[in-house]
Amino acid sequence: MSWDLDEYRRDAELFLEEIDREYYLHLAGHKPDLEIEPIYERHEALFERGAVEQVGEARRDAEGEQEDRLRYLHQIALDGHLGAITRSLDTRLAELEASLEIEVGGESVSYRMAPVVQANEPDPERRAAIEAARNATLADRLNPLHLEALESVHSACEELGWPSYLDAYSDVRALDLRALADELGRFADGTEPGYAGIVDPELERTVGLALGELRRSDLVRFFRAAHLDGLFPGERMIPALRETLAGIGIDLATQSNVVLDTESRPTKSPRAFCSTPRVPAEVYLVMPPIGGREDYAALFHEAGHAEHYGCTEAELAFEFRHLGDNSVTESYAFLLEGLTASPAWLEKVLGVEGAEAAIEHARASRLVFLRRYSAKIAYEVELHGPDADLGVMPERYASLLGERIGVDWPRETWLSDVDPGFYVACYLRAWALEVDWRAELGERFGAEWFADGEAGAWLRSLWSRGQRLDADRLLDEAAGRKLDFARLAAELS
Ligand SMILES: [Zn+2]
Repeated sequence: MSWDLDEYRRDAELFLEEIDREYYLHLAGHKPDLEIEPIYERHEALFERGAVEQVGEARRDAEGEQEDRLRYLHQIALDGHLGAITRSLDTRLAELEASLEIEVGGESVSYRMAPVVQANEPDPERRAAIEAARNATLADRLNPLHLEALESVHSACEELGWPSYLDAYSDVRALDLRALADELGRFADGTEPGYAGIVDPELERTVGLALGELRRSDLVRFFRAAHLDGLFPGERMIPALRETLAGIGIDLATQSNVVLDTESRPTKSPRAFCSTPRVPAEVYLVMPPIGGREDYAALFHEAGHAEHYGCTEAELAFEFRHLGDNSVTESYAFLLEGLTASPAWLEKVLGVEGAEAAIEHARASRLVFLRRYSAKIAYEVELHGPDADLGVMPERYASLLGERIGVDWPRETWLSDVDPGFYVACYLRAWALEVDWRAELGERFGAEWFADGEAGAWLRSLWSRGQRLDADRLLDEAAGRKLDFARLAAELS
């Protein structure tokens, strides 16, 4: 009656445009305050419980491409509905996080800066002290709010008729999350025998400790890889990106829909990010002018998102440009990020002779990341499942993560270490998909595919499809391959 699907789509598109632009302006340092509240108020009807139900109902009667569109809409309706329920808690959490200070050895450090200070701290005892103080503050001040948020999204999913949050997201993502967790369990088993052999030498090099002696607080230092800073100079970062994109036929300087924001501003986010108010017409790639391995990786990752969205076909339906299976966009982000750890790229673009140190470190950190995410999905499937006993979950979290990573894992982060809506599944599937893109590019265009215009044309034809197809169907159509974690495990064994 008063509910109109096309109007819903138009409103959703407008909402995303406003919210993404607001985040861009704030995080890029153009605007001190993040004013999202009025945007949510203007589009309140999008995320009411009735809207989630209406979209779900329309979806049940649809088939083929219409079902895909409605499923993608169903997910954004659910995401937004749960977001609306927890918004005031999220605001309180963000304000608290921004205001809290921790005490370490008589010095006070802001709660949010603590991980950065910890990653740059060479003394392991002080790293452990920073992490312990941060975890104590988390448990004491923030976890009560996190728990309240978790319980309210769980009940909202049940009120909408799903047995659990897990079932809600398995439905709107059309993904068997339990089966995916099992598959990653096999990945963890497959990479277990070679794990210490790959990781220990890099741990020794970065923190001087092997698995068994290592504490969780040392891991940030390991990822930081300060010994590789010399290979990744700040002043080469943006030119390296321009040259790489030129190699695949993209001239960033004339690509008017992708805005490269490199200016430094006092309140600009210290991390690279991509924002997409209008796909493909208005895409921002924002980067800090710093450098080092992690900044290069982050910049190329975000450039993968920016080019995917920037090359998306403008004629596609809104759902296929803005929504869909984010495993797809994350796979392109990992593909470009992976260049910064590829011998051919390091040699050709950065002129690094003997890139082994960077390659070995990248392999070890990728393995730790993937095993961490394999544990995260197993944990989140339990945490959000219909039979979850929240009383035992801190212990389950610590034991699942601790076992797969091989260090004692704290319980305190059992709530803050959870991304909404099972985004963990997108990262995991994207890591597997990236192996296929890389293999396909290598077979078709050789190891230096990043300097081949034909490879660029092939990639742009993939990117032009937006996220019309999910990862499985896209891979099948584009390369006749099937998503398989065994190949990923083989690379890391
Ligand atoms: Zn990403």
